[in-house]
Amino acid sequence: MLLFTPGPTPVLENVRAAMAKETIHHRTPEFTEIFKSTRELLFNLLKTDEVLMFASTGTGAMEACVTNLCHKKALTINAGKFGERFSKICSAFNIPFKELTYEWDTPADVGEVVEAVKNDSSIDALFVQICESSGGLRHPIEDIAREVKAIRPEIMIVADGITAVGVEPIDVTNIDALITGSQKALMLPPGLSIVGLSSRAIEKIGKGKGFYFNMASELKKQREGTTAYTAATTLIIGLKEMLNNIFELGLDTLYDLTDRRATATRVALEAIGLKIYPKKPANAMTAVIDEDAEKIRKILKSKYEVNIAGGQEHLKGKLFRINHMGIIKAYEAAWVVNAIELAMSELGRIEYTGKANKIFNELYFGE
Ligand SMILES: *Cc1c(COP(=O)(O)O)cnc(C)c1O
Repeated sequence: MLLFTPGPTPVLENVRAAMAKETIHHRTPEFTEIFKSTRELLFNLLKTDEVLMFASTGTGAMEACVTNLCHKKALTINAGKFGERFSKICSAFNIPFKELTYEWDTPADVGEVVEAVKNDSSIDALFVQICESSGGLRHPIEDIAREVKAIRPEIMIVADGITAVGVEPIDVTNIDALITGSQKALMLPPGLSIVGLSSRAIEKIGKGKGFYFNMASELKKQREGTTAYTAATTLIIGLKEMLNNIFELGLDTLYDLTDRRATATRVALEAIGLKIYPKKPANAMTAVIDEDAEKIRKILKSKYEVNIAGGQEHLKGKLFRINHMGIIKAYEAAWVVNAIELAMSELGRIEYTGKANKIFNELYFGE
């Protein structure tokens, strides 16, 4: 079965093999060496001043950013379940927040964000997804970050890049925290989260907040090549292997191939009459809005051995999402669009001509 959900993504064979080796103790020179070189590789990927790893899913890193980087009031951007999650974290910790809401297909409006910041001097941190995975949407994070910093540079810009890191180049000039997780573009099992931090963020963290997700205590340990609590040794070993895969391929090549797959998929699916859901699609995934979404997903799974994701909440049964994150074979991605065309013809909507596959390959392998 081809796993084409936008997280978890498949784990490559050499990464699985690396993680299958005998467990080692985390307080050893052997593991410290692995930890340090993984940190170095993460610096190359994130291009931030500092980096932290947590044994948690991505949500843990989101929580750590809220508790450590927002001391007064948060501004959250909710265009889907993950944006909403930042607001829920604020609520859980009794942190005041102002939330800007958008339809799941609509990117945040930079002017509205600017207004919100100008009208409320207590806002000291902004939380936004780069790609909101609920609808496969790309927010204008670069513009938001630049405009907000121009008003009050001390406002922390926290970017949830869980479905953007490893997908596209991210300009971190105006970003103070860049979050990612293991099970998306980093093609690892779930359970490890990563945050890149600016030096401004380090300053603000001070002594840190909370206990397990206290960024100050983690930072102290991780700079020494260890973690405050037991490290997720197996996942970190896997991460090092995967980052080596990525740098062997080359970051620019990875971004280019991901862009080609995303573009080729979108054009191929539009050519067979399907509608791309978000007004501004991210390259992490293709989200299609369709009344037959569930039927198409079922046919794909049962007949063509392809597993794609559906929609959540009000889009349940109306959306399907195809992953583009990671190092993925073109022939697998081509098979996915071909299988969708086959499914559409089976539902009596179109006549199968192989058009989706043809367009995908022409675009992917073209100029
Ligand atoms: C997957 C995802 C998360 C984190 O989810 P976890 O299940 O906690 O790993 C957060 N934000 C976005 C945009 C995501 O796609």
